[in-house]
Amino acid sequence: MAERKSSRTWCPSGDPHAPEAVALGVRSGQDGGVVYLADPVPASQVLGMVPEGVEPRRVLRFASHCTSNCVNRRGDDCTLVERVLAAPAATATAVPRCHLRTQCQWWSQTGVEACRRCPAVSTLHLAGDRLGELVADPSTTREQLDEWIAANPAGATGAGAGG
Ligand code: SF4
Repeated sequence: MAERKSSRTWCPSGDPHAPEAVALGVRSGQDGGVVYLADPVPASQVLGMVPEGVEPRRVLRFASHCTSNCVNRRGDDCTLVERVLAAPAATATAVPRCHLRTQCQWWSQTGVEACRRCPAVSTLHLAGDRLGELVADPSTTREQLDEWIAANPAGATGAGAGG
């Protein structure tokens, strides 16, 4: 069952060092939003261009296979995208053009709403970004997330952490 899933779908918050990994987009602008590449580029071709000492996921977004042993998996579903969608969005964003769509786990699971949030998702949350930490943490329940958002309305927009 797990292998069937991993062979069909890809994670848009992927591991840059997975053998099949591709660069999905480039983080740009002051908010670090992702600008999607027109075509996938093997991660192995771009990792060497990232300056030494810079975590690759700070400047690029990667996609890799959705795998059965991922900490975010629950059955065939990805709980990370559920937490991403549960966090309020800072602004409404357009659906990006994206080469991964036909193979994307998030798209197949939640459709266009995932794509609206996708550009803001960081695959490396920042220290001090409590909402980002909660979203990224596979052990966070929906109830805990809702509770934190209700208690911290000023800090609950613009979250975009991913695993
Ligand atoms: S969620 Fe949408 S925009 Fe993001 S990688 Fe998947 S298909 Fe592309």
